Amino acid sequence: MQQLIVVGCQSGDEGKGKFTDFFSENAYAIVRYQGGPHTGHTVVTEGGVQRFVQLPSGITRGSIGVLGNGCVVDPGKLILEAEELGVELSPENLLISEVAAVVMPYHLLQDELMESWRGDSVATHAHSGFSVGRGQLGSTKQGVGPCREDKIARFGLRLVDLLDRVLLAERLARIVPLKRAICEKVHGAGADRLDSVFDLERMIEEHYSYGQRLAPCLGDVPSFMAEARRQDRYVVFEGAQSLALDVEHGTYPYCSSGYSAAGGVTVGTGSPPGADFKVVGVSKAYMAQVGGGPLPTELDGETADHLVDRGREVGTVTGRRRRVGWLDLSFVRRSLDIDGIEHLCLTNLDVLAGLPEVKVATHYEVDGERWHRYPAALGLAARVKPVYESFEGWPDQDWDEVARGGLEALSEPARNYVEYVARELGVALAAVSIGRRRDQTIMLKNPLETATPAF
Ligand code: GDP
Repeated sequence: MQQLIVVGCQSGDEGKGKFTDFFSENAYAIVRYQGGPHTGHTVVTEGGVQRFVQLPSGITRGSIGVLGNGCVVDPGKLILEAEELGVELSPENLLISEVAAVVMPYHLLQDELMESWRGDSVATHAHSGFSVGRGQLGSTKQGVGPCREDKIARFGLRLVDLLDRVLLAERLARIVPLKRAICEKVHGAGADRLDSVFDLERMIEEHYSYGQRLAPCLGDVPSFMAEARRQDRYVVFEGAQSLALDVEHGTYPYCSSGYSAAGGVTVGTGSPPGADFKVVGVSKAYMAQVGGGPLPTELDGETADHLVDRGREVGTVTGRRRRVGWLDLSFVRRSLDIDGIEHLCLTNLDVLAGLPEVKVATHYEVDGERWHRYPAALGLAARVKPVYESFEGWPDQDWDEVARGGLEALSEPARNYVEYVARELGVALAAVSIGRRRDQTIMLKNPLETATPAF
């Protein structure tokens, strides 16, 4: 059985797209079990830059792209994305779960209204007086959170509902007045906004026509997965978002609303937990994060600018500058445990080049006590101090030459850093990534094989 799950160990944007694409050569299917219009991946090949948001990275390599029931779908944007990537909406290319939740126009408005309700003030812990984070979650405002709220409240729409015009009209006739009242009476949205979003007739027509366009691709994902297992096909699951953004295991409330950890594969595609999965994690050689939430090793000043400039630390969907910090081993270790990662791909090693000194946080101190886990209690979290190990920095190199020469071609301080990180984490290294392109990769181990530590 060959089922590989590619997950992010940090807060997203680790380079999962690059490695999903990398490992998807010869894959029968590339499956998203989570994600939606807020999850962007960039893949750089000799042919240029490709940007995937709702479609799985690698779909343009000839595998079948699958969107599981754990995904949320903005149908209008999905159709546009397929057009832009030149992907024909046919069952040979794409299978979309018929029960995936639909992002409706009112979800985008609600998302925006909720984010401004949260405010941008810094909340303060009542007893300790320490700041415990920003009010806003840093939502991408693509309507995903409110869409999932409706799903759980059991009045959301599923893609299959768009195929039945009468049912769609009936459902929307009930839902729209409720949603409009929430936006108007709770949030005080103005009549102009409300009228443009809550145009019932237009919504019915538009979404019925989206349903017709997507109809050839809609189907039952659990049956597809079961058949792929029976035929022993090679399947790659593409993690969208990462551990920190998982609603159960992430940095709540600064997380997303889905199950982005590897366990989400079972829920989000109807694959049984006993199926034989291998999990490969992707982690940057430093931390980066868009939006709010804890980032104990956060940097500012020149070092932060260095990482942001060289690492192009700007969100694919939002265009926002990401916050950056030194690599936090406690954080990554948690991902190894929860996701069941045996192999790791360490990315953006090239970005750290040129700094005089590089640090890694090995654990935290909270009120003089040693902690290896980020505390759940907000009052304690506010007092976390990272404890660092310091390394000599390394110079810029010709990264294409390093890619050809392998680990041996890395400068000694850079190699020391890589070996230290792998050893401390106790994980086998599948690859070290030293640039955006597919070929700027040092491959070390096949993640489908049994892991043996690299150092
Ligand atoms: P994902 O959501 O995890 O797939 O990550 P994104 O695609 O949103 O962001 C990762 C960015 O880092 C993309 O622009 C990649 O092209 C780029 N990238 C991936 N690996 C490397 C690397 O090793 N070095 C550098 N400099 N950039 C990388």
